Amino acid sequence: MRLTFTLVAACVLAGAAPARAQMPDDGARLLQDAAVRAAVEAARAHEAQTLMDQQRFCQVPAPPFMEAARGEVLKQAFEQVGLQNVRVDRVGNVLGDRPGRSPRPRLVIAGHLDTVFPEGTDVTVTREGDVLKGPGIGDDCRGLAVLVSIVRALNQANVVTEGSITFVADVGEEGLGDLRGMKALFGETMKGEIDRFVSIDGTGLGITRVAVGSHRYRVTFKGPGGHSFGAFGLANPIQAMGRAIAKIGEFQVAARPKTTFNVGRVGGGTSVNSIPFEGWMEVDMRSSDPASLAAVDAQFHLAVDEAVAEENRRWNHPDMVTAEKDLVGDRPAGNTPEDSPIVRAALAVNQALGFTGNLGEGSTDSNIPMSLGIPAITVGGGGQGRGAHSLDEQFDTTDSWKGTQRATLLVFALTQRWEATP
Ligand SMILES: [Zn+2]
Repeated sequence: MRLTFTLVAACVLAGAAPARAQMPDDGARLLQDAAVRAAVEAARAHEAQTLMDQQRFCQVPAPPFMEAARGEVLKQAFEQVGLQNVRVDRVGNVLGDRPGRSPRPRLVIAGHLDTVFPEGTDVTVTREGDVLKGPGIGDDCRGLAVLVSIVRALNQANVVTEGSITFVADVGEEGLGDLRGMKALFGETMKGEIDRFVSIDGTGLGITRVAVGSHRYRVTFKGPGGHSFGAFGLANPIQAMGRAIAKIGEFQVAARPKTTFNVGRVGGGTSVNSIPFEGWMEVDMRSSDPASLAAVDAQFHLAVDEAVAEENRRWNHPDMVTAEKDLVGDRPAGNTPEDSPIVRAALAVNQALGFTGNLGEGSTDSNIPMSLGIPAITVGGGGQGRGAHSLDEQFDTTDSWKGTQRATLLVFALTQRWEATP
């Protein structure tokens, strides 16, 4: 990372020489445009409005798989700020266009509608001093509010971008939503039309360029079941599961790239004096490296199959216990290289504004474009978040305008052509 910052600094110091004019890491050049400077200033000046939107969006419930009500509010907001062709796709993603001088490159910038909170959660947002409190206030009501603010800032300054932008409020980012909004966006709604992708997710000024992929399974072990004394001698689904868990616990995985496994939930059985007819477990495996993820996934399948065979062998009942493995989560791994134009542009934008944001990794909407080789990053929406995914989630608004301002300049940078000037 130190190397990248050195490179960025060197290019900024070199100024706007013609051969460098199209370099995505020339952040200072972007700010030479008076309209862009005006947009960046507007982004800061409108922060009170941004925070009001953030609060307003957040007080509309958006439980997993039930994002429609919040989606409707974003649809109205997109229309009010003048986005064109505002539409809702098959899965519930809300889209709106801001055409530039040409249709390509097309940048998609997205924030997610859904929360982790179930139906019935009190989503009232309160304010204490500089701090907003409410479930989802940072993750990702902040991203949604910043999306709308970018449009306002660009409009107020009459910025015309080179390429075009599609703003997206998407569904299914969290948990078992399993990135279904992004899978639909890249697979059908805008298939082949997206050149660059940014997701604004959560808080701070970091830049995520590595996608941690995950596979999640629910495994159900089944057998005939019976009386613990009277039917003794039957193969036992929960004992088979225990064998599987013991094997999983012994997996050896790479420390770098970090690769992980976890049996997170178990259940089953009817009573202490019954041989169970069913047991189940939920397993999560993660890595930023697709091959390492595939390797731990293969170990998992083998462990379950061997555990079942051992349990049946132990009681001399071939095929009595069975196991069904249902893939309930599949987030592909991937990454955008550190020296790619989109990452360099994001670092240059931070640098031009005098902000620092570290490069990081995570599981976000960008997993899908990264796995497809489409340049993508996820950035924070500014401010400081605490307690994401908890009922006392907080958003500290101190200097939160920086996130709006950074996102606005980033959008401008990412609609530029990067090819060398002829
Ligand atoms: Zn999020």
